[in-house]
This record gives sequence, structure tokens and C-alpha cells, in this order.
Amino acid sequence: MITLSVSQAQQQIQSAILPITETEQIELKHALNCITADNIIAPMNVPAFDNSAMDGYAFCAQDLASHTQLSIVGTAYAGHPYSTPMQTGQAIRITTGAKMPERCDTVLPQELAVLVNENTLDMRNINVHAGQHRRRCGEDLKMADIAIAKGCRLNPAESGLLASLGIAKVNVQRQLRVALFSTGDELRSVGQQLDDGCIYDSNRVTLHSMLTRFGAEVIDLGILADNPAELKSALKNSAPQMDAIITSGGVAGGAADYTKQVMQELAEMTFMSINMRPGRPFAFGKMTSSNGNTFLFGLPGNPVAVMVSFYFFVRPALQLLGGEQVSVPIPINAIATQRIPKKIGRTEFQRGICNVTEQGKLQVSIAGEQGSGILSSMSHANCMVVLKSEQGDIETGDAVQLILFEGLT
Ligand code: AMP
Ligand code: MG
Repeated sequence: MITLSVSQAQQQIQSAILPITETEQIELKHALNCITADNIIAPMNVPAFDNSAMDGYAFCAQDLASHTQLSIVGTAYAGHPYSTPMQTGQAIRITTGAKMPERCDTVLPQELAVLVNENTLDMRNINVHAGQHRRRCGEDLKMADIAIAKGCRLNPAESGLLASLGIAKVNVQRQLRVALFSTGDELRSVGQQLDDGCIYDSNRVTLHSMLTRFGAEVIDLGILADNPAELKSALKNSAPQMDAIITSGGVAGGAADYTKQVMQELAEMTFMSINMRPGRPFAFGKMTSSNGNTFLFGLPGNPVAVMVSFYFFVRPALQLLGGEQVSVPIPINAIATQRIPKKIGRTEFQRGICNVTEQGKLQVSIAGEQGSGILSSMSHANCMVVLKSEQGDIETGDAVQLILFEGLT
């Protein structure tokens, strides 16, 4: 088996994936996390009319060449336009968001206004530039432009943007159906009694959580024993209804590692050894049934390796499969607060804890023991420190790259 670099493995997976094509119409309020199936074209301008960005007074800037005072002839409120035609030398009171009357192009904020009396503005010592504090029709979104591109995940900003365009239903990619199971005679589900030498199955729970957060429909097929016949029938029976199946355990090549063997019998597989830590063994392939393709992801058994493999390989693959533009996590630089031993020749994903110093500098330390079975390192960490293949030991004070676990979404 050839050993691939992280980027080679990512490329191989990406080039093998065929996106699903089924779409559905969905109510905007239920579309959070869905993927747009088409470019969404703006059916109108936003804003649909010029309006005031401030509470104040609206007038035509050119009038100031011939007038030192403006007479206030009325009020425009948001939602209640002032529609009486206006004359040279006139102004109106205006509130934020109110439509700019026909002749008006400029707004004087109320806190800068000098009033001669209730109905007259003194403009002698007022500096204005024509067009100030006016929001232009279409300055946010222009009618007929692409408001949201195909393959975009609808986050709260996109939902609001569609609402601002009056769009009540969206054509989105259908949700991916992803099955998962764990393999291993030693595994017990939470709630079961833990027999001697057994452990609780945590991978199925972390995978379920990561997939749910990703937006897939998750089908939990439970725990399968280290038994080729059982594995075979689970894969065969579930594949026709699934877009992908994710397994954990049994791909490393040990005496009881049957996942690999069974996948090979049923599917067109690429087994990978990826030059990384944690998560070196990884199986990827495609099973074809009467209903089309099912992509198989055979993840290693160690809990941290499962999470790392999911985030860096499975998640981008599922994005592509689900018709989403693949998002590459943004690496940021931080200063290492400690020495980090690192072997040259493999990518290491170490769990980090980053924080900002009083001087505003980002620094990172390593979140405890880094064994691939130590899941508490993922829980204590708030970022992944990504040490590239060619990097050697990191010394205190060196810059390292990290990827934050959480963002503002
Ligand atoms: P394997 O790849 O099957 O040899 O598993 C590697 C290690 O991960 C072993 O220590 C397993 O007991 C452990 N492991 C496998 N599957 C799970 C699971 N679902 N939850 C927690 N640990 C697991
Ligand atoms: Mg096992």
C-alpha cells in the first residue's frame, strides 16, 4: 500500500466524488445549513429605493448655493414616504430608513442641525457634501445580479439576505443520507453493561454529532462485531439507500481488522496510508448498486484519529458530494509557548489551546497528551495545530499554523 501525503489523499478523494443531483424546494425558515442548488438571482434591488441612513433633515445639496436657510415642510417616516413635491429651498425631517423624497439627495444628521425656529434650518456654518447619509437603491443587492451562488451553505446571513429579497422558498440540494457503524468485539453502546476488557463506543457518538452538525441525515447502524459476514451484510443491505457509509475501526491491518477485507470484496476501494498522525490508515471507495453510488469511508478506530480524519478528509468529501463549494479551513499563525517535538516526514495534527496575550498576540500551547486514543485532548483544545510534513521540532517562540475549532457562523 502506498503512503500518500495529506494533500495527495485529499485530492484523490475529491477527484473520485460525484455530487448528488437531486434538489428540493424548501421554506426559507427551514433552509438553515442547506446548500443552494442554483445561483439565486436578485428579483429586486435592496434597498428598493434611496433612503436616509440617519435621523435628520433631507434636502437637495445644490439648493445651498442659493439658500442659507431651508424651510422644513414636513416629515418622512420609515414606511411612510413624504410624497408632496418639494421646491427649491425646502427640507423635510426624515427618519432612518425613510424613503428620500424626489428632489432630495442629501441628509443632515439631526445632531448637526442648527434650527432658527421649529420650521427653519440655518445652513450657514454647516458643511455638507452632496449625497451624504443617503443609502442608494441597490447598494446592497442589485436586481438581476447573483445574490447567492450555487453550492453555498445557507448560514444566518444568507437566510436574512434571501428574506431581504422577499424570497420565501429556496431550491436546495437534498440532504445527504449517511450511515455509520462501529466495528470491534470490544465495543459496547452507552447504556449497556461494560464487560471485562470492553470499552464504550465513543466514535459512533462523535461521528453522529459531527454529521448532524454538518447537516446530514444520519442513520446509525450500531456496533458490528469483528466478523466478516456481519460486516458484509451490513454494507450490502444499507448501501443502496445511502450516499455514504462511514465506519470506524478495522482498517489498520491487524489480525481482527476485517473492515478492509470486506470493503475490498464489495466495492472499488483505495486503501490509503496517509503520512499523518493521528489517523494513518484510511479506506476510501465507491460501492455501486441499482440506486447509484455509495461512497465508503473506513476510518481508523482511535477516537482522535476519527475526528481528525472526519474534519480533514470526510467533511470536504461530503461537501463535494452534497453539491457544496468545498471550504478550506483558514490557517492562522500563532506563537508556540512550548517546545513541540515533531517528526519530519509526516503531517501532525496536534490539539492546541490558543489564546490572545495582553499585547494582542496569538499564542498556542499543546492540549496535554497527544495519543490518538486520548479524546479529552480534543475536548480541552480549541484549535488544531497543523505541523507540516517538512517541519521538524518546534521551539518555544516559533510560529506555528493552527485552525480554530469554532468560528462565528
Ligand atoms: P482498530 O483500528 O479497530 O484496531 O482500533 C484501534 C483502537 O481504537 C483500539 O484501541 C480500539 O479499541 C479503539 N476503538 C475502535 N473503535 C472504537 C470506538 N467505536 N470507540 C472507541 N474506541 C474505539
Ligand atoms: Mg478493531
